[in-house]
Parts: sequence; C-alpha cells; structure tokens
Amino acid sequence: MDAKYFPKNYNESRNHFREQALALKAQIGEWKIPGQKDDDLYVDHAYWPALEKPQTLLVVTSGIHGSETYAGAAILNMFMTEIFKNVDRKNMGVFLVHALNPFGFKHHQRTTEAGVNLNRNFSVSGELYKTKNEDSARLHQKFYSRQPVTSDRSDLIQSIEIKGDSIYFGDISLDQFTKSVSPGQFDGPENLEYGGKALEPQTKLLIEKIKSIMPLYQDVVGLDLHSGLGDKNRLHLLTSGSDHDLHPELFAKLFHQKEDHDIYAFTPASTEGFYQVKGALNSMFVELAMPKQRICTITMEFGTFGHSLDEQLEGLNSSLLSHQGRYYGFATKELENKIQKNNFEKSYPQTDEWRNAVIAASRGLFERILKRV
Ligand SMILES: [Zn+2]
Repeated sequence: MDAKYFPKNYNESRNHFREQALALKAQIGEWKIPGQKDDDLYVDHAYWPALEKPQTLLVVTSGIHGSETYAGAAILNMFMTEIFKNVDRKNMGVFLVHALNPFGFKHHQRTTEAGVNLNRNFSVSGELYKTKNEDSARLHQKFYSRQPVTSDRSDLIQSIEIKGDSIYFGDISLDQFTKSVSPGQFDGPENLEYGGKALEPQTKLLIEKIKSIMPLYQDVVGLDLHSGLGDKNRLHLLTSGSDHDLHPELFAKLFHQKEDHDIYAFTPASTEGFYQVKGALNSMFVELAMPKQRICTITMEFGTFGHSLDEQLEGLNSSLLSHQGRYYGFATKELENKIQKNNFEKSYPQTDEWRNAVIAASRGLFERILKRV
C-alpha cells in the first residue's frame, strides 16, 4: 500500500528523510530556522551531483506550505525508495528539499510562524516587497472581518449572490476575488497571502544553495510539491504560462500532455479558480538563470477539494476562517477545532484513496519524465 509512504509527523518525517538520503550517499545538509515556540525547526536537503558531465539539474522541493508537507514528504520518500536507483546520474544532478516550512508542518498551518506564505517570498532582487496589491487591500476592506470567528460561514460567504453560472460577492466574481487576493500582498500577515518584507531565512538559504549548484548545469527542471487546489485525487501541473520559467522545447520534451493524461492534467494559471502568483519559489530559477540555461519549473498540485464552484467556495471559506481565527480568535474552542480540522483536511485528506492517488501519480510522472530527459 502506497499510503505507507506518508509520515506521521514532522520529526519522524525529518529523521526518515535524512536516513534515506544518507543511505543513498547524498551530500546532506540542514538549515536551522529560528522559532519563538520551537527549537527544533530544520529544513533538510540532499544533493547528488552529476557523476560525469553535468547537463540537467532536477530540483524537487516540498513543504513550502506547512500542512502540505505530508504529501510532499511522502513523494520524496517514494522517490528515494523506488525511483532514485533508476536515475541515470551520468549527466543528471538531483537536489531534494524536505519541509521548507518546518513550523507550518509541525503545527499544521500554511504559513510560517511570522505568518509569511513562503511561496510569495522569493525575490532575489528584493523589488517584489515594494509592490502594492491594491485590489487585494480593497477586497479585504470590503469582505474580511477583523473580529473573532463566530460561525462556520465567513462574512464573505454570507454575502454570496448567484448570477447565471457564476458566484458573486457584491459586484466581484469568485474568480476575480481569487485572482486578486491569491497572487499575494506585502502589507502584513493579518491579510491573506502575505509575502513578507524581506527574504525569510529558508528562502535566502535556498537561493544561495541553488546559486552555487545551478551554474554547472545546462537545464534546470524544478518540481515544487503542493496539495490543495484542483479535482480530488487528481494531479494538476500548474505553470505561470510564461516562456521564462517554461522553456518551450524543454517542456515539450519532458511533458507529453496527451499521452500523460492518465497521470496529470495540465492547468494554466488562467483557468477559473487558479491564479498566477508573485514571489513563487519557481520564479527563483528564472532570476538566477544565465542567458543560455533552459528552465522548466512546474508546480505539482494534488487536488483535494474539488473544482466545482461549490467546492471552490467551500475551500475559500475554510481558509478564510482559519486565517481570521488565527489573527482575531475564535468565539469558542469547539468552533476553532472544527474549523482547523476541516482546513487541515484541505491540505491532507485522511483517506488512503487520496494517499494512494498521490503516490501513483507522482510515480508515473517521475518514471515518464526521467525517461525523456
Ligand atoms: Zn501549496
């Protein structure tokens, strides 16, 4: 049963990752992440340089969103158990990262202890933090209540209107709301999708590490592991839709969308309910690339909450309430438990069916793309 690959908790997962990587003779390393609550937060990584002439670097990152590390760590476990031995390492280097947000993994939340969504925090130049997301600020003003959560239906959801096939909050459609708020903002952690004011410790260290190994290689293939958006039990490959982070030839060589339909669905950022983010991990590779390097970076998103309008709405409601409660409290402990449990399920469904689907899809994807490199 593939469900066996899933970790029980942060500590067990971390120890297992290190043991496995060492047994496979990786160069391992750890970055200690300072915490107010914890003294045992580490990001662990493993690197196997190409054995002969470096050509392609495969980077697989997990746990940038804390609760999603259960799936990410399980995939890395499967990769080292089943896939690694068949990788032709003559020309390929492999770099794996376990739990980019160890606080979030340990405490079951998306963001860091400081409330930063690390997947909005990547800016090598620092220019990103100066940007203003006016639409996000305006929508928070209008729809986000800054008081304790008193119900399992957020204020936003209570202002719903159905017009034709679409859901509206006042004159804003659900898709507009998602595409305005989800890309990120740099004002503060109380609002959704806060990207920080500067590089976070692990973001900075990851950039330095990638900067040191990336120049050796011609091609860089980056896979960032997530769970949440999309149809339940289905793997979605998300891209920004830009040629910069997706070299068309390299992408076409590795990903045969029609042939691979049994394994994943390719979902451009413009799709309803999806969006393009600012400061994503994948943008780091573009910022660091030399002119002749070819980059192919993909977000692998294992769907948990479904893609119908109702399900998207339910997903939004759940993350809104969880976030609001974190900053403004919950009216009762019971309500808090119910909302947090429900929200955790959106990152990590507690069914073997889902766990098996995650492993089957990622196994299939690795087997195919590694054959095509
Ligand atoms: Zn995620």
